[in-house]
Amino acid sequence: MNRRPAPGDRRALAGSGRQLWDLLLERHRALCHEWRLAQSLDRADDDLLPTRDRVEDALVEVGMAIERVQDGAYGCCRSCGGAIDFQRLLMLPTATRCWPCQEAVEQHEHTDDPPRH
Ligand SMILES: [Zn+2]
Repeated sequence: MNRRPAPGDRRALAGSGRQLWDLLLERHRALCHEWRLAQSLDRADDDLLPTRDRVEDALVEVGMAIERVQDGAYGCCRSCGGAIDFQRLLMLPTATRCWPCQEAVEQHEHTDDPPRH
């Protein structure tokens, strides 16, 4: 059975989904601001490098989330294709997986780590 959402299915952004879109745009603006700040402060201070990397990573994530909204793919889990819980998206608007899939991925990452003791 084909359970993929129809291409025109943008329920995720109707009604309360507007809130997510606003969250994404706001986050994007804040990150752009942080990024410019980090750019103007860098070079002399190596301590800022991790901050810049973090801001750049976050900016890329938000940019990809905005693209997914425009593609109508936002809110769909990249692993199982199911809908990502709305509360999860409110907490983490850039989430690309539903809770169960995210947990599975994290557990998998942990088991890949060789024990260190
Ligand atoms: Zn999933």
